Amino acid sequence: MNPITYVEATDVAGALGHQYATGRAFIAGGTNLIDLMKEQVMRPSTLVDVNGLQLDAIESTASGGLLLGATARNADTAYHPLVRDGYPLLRAAILAGASPQIRNMASNGGNLLQRTRCHYFYDIATACNKRDPGSGCAAIGGLTRQHAILGASAHCIATHPSDMCVALAALEAVVHVVSAGGARQIAFADFHRLPEDHPERDTTLAPGELITHIELPPAAHFAAHSAYLKFRDRASYAFALVSVAAMLDVGDDGVVRDARLALGGVAHKPWRAPLAEAALIGRRAGPETFAHAAELLLSGAQGQGENDFKITMARRAVIRALKQALEGTHDNSHEFAGKESP
Ligand SMILES: Cc1cc2nc3c(=O)[nH]c(=O)nc-3n(C[C@H](O)[C@H](O)[C@H](O)COP(=O)(O)OP(=O)(O)OC[C@H]3O[C@@H](n4cnc5c(N)ncnc54)[C@H](O)[C@@H]3O)c2cc1C
Ligand code: SF4
Repeated sequence: MNPITYVEATDVAGALGHQYATGRAFIAGGTNLIDLMKEQVMRPSTLVDVNGLQLDAIESTASGGLLLGATARNADTAYHPLVRDGYPLLRAAILAGASPQIRNMASNGGNLLQRTRCHYFYDIATACNKRDPGSGCAAIGGLTRQHAILGASAHCIATHPSDMCVALAALEAVVHVVSAGGARQIAFADFHRLPEDHPERDTTLAPGELITHIELPPAAHFAAHSAYLKFRDRASYAFALVSVAAMLDVGDDGVVRDARLALGGVAHKPWRAPLAEAALIGRRAGPETFAHAAELLLSGAQGQGENDFKITMARRAVIRALKQALEGTHDNSHEFAGKESP
């Protein structure tokens, strides 16, 4: 038994209070943190509940974007009219994750900080550099079906599990955080990190920093052509083997004016593909252009044996997602939502 102090914070200053600094973990929906505590993977001595911080609004910004509160629930975010109408890619990605019950509990801030689903990370009897730095990596040479094909290191081959974050990467979201030292904003591309020689650090968040909001820049020029495609072992309630967020801005002449591509399930962070995006821009949208972009995107991919299939799967998924996006954004969230009602 580990003794735990539980505190319900009512304002941000209180949540950041120095009296909780040692061993503090913020808790929102608890859908990941409590699981990890039960498995003894994480052992905070104080839980600071952030649900009373009034950070659950979803509102337009002056620049025409959107501000998502950190404690807004994933379900409330996906079904919000401003998200449904302006950011269908984000809606589809959120609804592709977990189950209706979990999405009703899970918060936006917690979604960004959910930890890898590598089975060795959850099993404290095995070596894991992410859980216990310097202990080794049991996944290398072990069961690797879920593991990374891009950006892995000799210290960790885990993947980032979030669907929402793949859409946020493509949308070039900005994460607003605050600590006792002040507030700052982190570009989404810099928020999650590759494992390198410090896989224990999932993000560039400093210890004790609290996520307050996620800001979405305007994305109207992509509204007509976006798609989120997820491949997984079961039709629902499973993490992605490979997922793709694709956004196209296509002119009347059929030429791509702008493009965004992000992959999930393939790397330690949502994987943006600037080279592949550049290869789409200025070309006529169609099968050859899409195949070329997919080839570029996967050119550095390396499997671990068991997960080699992901390279082919990702290549095909990119082509299919781009084709779906070209055909037009449709509200494909029903494919993910099952019998859930708004
Ligand atoms: C069975 C199951 C299946 C799932 N399937 C999927 C899936 O297919 N796709 C997918 O994307 N996700 C999936 N999830 C993950 C789920 O989306 C996450 O558990 C959830 O989003 C985490 O949000 P939370 O509010 O519950 O976070 P919590 O568990 O409360 O917290 C998670 C982490 O974030 C920290 N934290 C929380 N809020 C803040 C904040 N405001 N500032 C700083 N730190 C904070 C906590 O300290 C903790 O470290 C699944 C989860 C389960 C249990
Ligand atoms: S892949 Fe990463 S998370 Fe999994 S066992 Fe190795 S170090 Fe741990």
